[in-house]
Amino acid sequence: MNFFQNCYQGLLDLFLQSQCPLCQRPTSTDFCPYCQKQLQRCQITQPEKFWGKDFPLFPWGTYSGSLKKALWALKYEKQPKIAQPLGFWLGETWLKSRLKSGKNLLVVPIPLHPNKLRSRGFNQAELLAESFCQVTNLHLAKDALERRSETEALHSKLSTERRETLRGAFQIGKSFRQRHPKAEVLLLDDIYTTGATALEAADTLRKFDIKVCGIVAIATSEIRVTDARLNFPAIPSK
Ligand SMILES: [Zn+2]
Repeated sequence: MNFFQNCYQGLLDLFLQSQCPLCQRPTSTDFCPYCQKQLQRCQITQPEKFWGKDFPLFPWGTYSGSLKKALWALKYEKQPKIAQPLGFWLGETWLKSRLKSGKNLLVVPIPLHPNKLRSRGFNQAELLAESFCQVTNLHLAKDALERRSETEALHSKLSTERRETLRGAFQIGKSFRQRHPKAEVLLLDDIYTTGATALEAADTLRKFDIKVCGIVAIATSEIRVTDARLNFPAIPSK
């Protein structure tokens, strides 16, 4: 390659590069190599261990370090493109796990209240679900659930308080009202903390005789999950 070709290639590389959404270093991939490595450190090695008997959970990583930063940037710095690689990784690990392998599942993202959706401009769970479904080939059911009450920030609340705050927060959405689904539902959310949101969403669906097999999430806090799983009643199998 001669000097001019080298210059041209250099300029082209520069032009094609964008900023890493976490550290603003130039990168030609979703995250720069440094942040990619940091994110991979948050990955849970055996996510199947959360697929328990009461409320089955399948998380990609722990809610800490770079993964916490990435989810914060996605929602609060309004960087929706972060959802694409995260949803993809979750989908890849779900396929590798062979949980519910070959089963026709409907992926239902946890909805936002319309006011929050308006102010944020997107539902992060829906974007993650789009990417997850591209990898897994599962069907995305976007308007299956609606959020009818706006809840204040839940992170300071105890698990029992969260459950109480969320009671009646969801209702069946347009697509399931129009056509009762035959397939099982797999819920999807960005973060799983105490499980209160997942349980309330699942209860809403179950009241309409819709079976929910569990939830997939990008991140979870293992300690809280262990605590919460001791406190929450089991979902009766249908
Ligand atoms: Zn970076």
